[in-house]
Amino acid sequence: MPGDIVVAALGGTIASARPSSGGVAPSLTAQDLIDAVPGLPPHVEALSFRSLPGSSVTVPDLMALHELLEQRFAAGAAGAVVTQGTDTIEESAYAMDLVHRGPQPIVVTGAMRNPMTAGPDGPANLLAAVTVAGSPLARDLGCVVVFADEIHPASRVRKTHSTSTGTFVSVDGGPLGYLVEGSPVVVNPRAARHTLPRPASRPRIAVYTATLGDDGAPLEALAGAVDGLVIAGFGVGHVPAGWTPLIDSLCARMPVVLATRTGSGPVLRHTYGYPGSESDLRRRGLISAGFLHPYKARLLLQFALAAGANPAQLTAAFDVAGQVSSSERWPF
Ligand code: ASP
Repeated sequence: MPGDIVVAALGGTIASARPSSGGVAPSLTAQDLIDAVPGLPPHVEALSFRSLPGSSVTVPDLMALHELLEQRFAAGAAGAVVTQGTDTIEESAYAMDLVHRGPQPIVVTGAMRNPMTAGPDGPANLLAAVTVAGSPLARDLGCVVVFADEIHPASRVRKTHSTSTGTFVSVDGGPLGYLVEGSPVVVNPRAARHTLPRPASRPRIAVYTATLGDDGAPLEALAGAVDGLVIAGFGVGHVPAGWTPLIDSLCARMPVVLATRTGSGPVLRHTYGYPGSESDLRRRGLISAGFLHPYKARLLLQFALAAGANPAQLTAAFDVAGQVSSSERWPF
């Protein structure tokens, strides 16, 4: 119905219940989640799409959901809420953000405490998410994560704690806004939106983290199984000096993106100059991820390769998405 908010359920802790034996597992429908929220606005459409833990959601699941949501938007829906397992929200929200061109917001939420606990956070998160999805303030924000009364941009939000209800943090700048007395307030503008077509293929991209004393042999073995790599380097983008011959051979075979394993802050470009430093790696052909977290860089590389990006377009895309260069233009 025009003006509706679609609530699409993918599973996760928010939708989990206890079977006769064993631990909780996703089984509740979108309508069950809606029915558990007192005070939810009318005109909410329930869409039970998947019943999966966050760890089993796939990019094709998300792209199929996005296609369905676009049909609802074309029919007049004002926005959408996606409920899913928090384990992969930081990736799924970014994946949908990368392909979502319309002005209608897609708001992702979930819960850390399941509905069988004394104080589940799912109903409050769902109410906040529906409120944001129906707000004019959320138009043109793309995909956001609403959790614990905070509004986070998909491009920066991270799950930072395995159990805390305050697990979601927008690194490098803080949340876009908050819910104050039940109403959204936006305090930070979101960075410009950059989108790509929904990927028709799925190039295999791995994230490999540099660790103390690694001789690079596992990276070499991994490289045979992938179409592209994101290296999560030390600090501002460093790897052991002994990796440099391997880096040269990797760069000759596939795109390799350099991110930081620290979890926040940018990869630098020209501060350090020794073998394995950020400037050395850039000279050898690595693409800088800038501020983009390795998990998000992996999705951007996958979607850009699926869109047929050439090396210059990949570099430009990461310059823009990683917010390290204002001179580059988004190449898609
Ligand atoms: N702990 C997760 C959650 O909050 C489980 C999952 O991702 O399904 O939903």
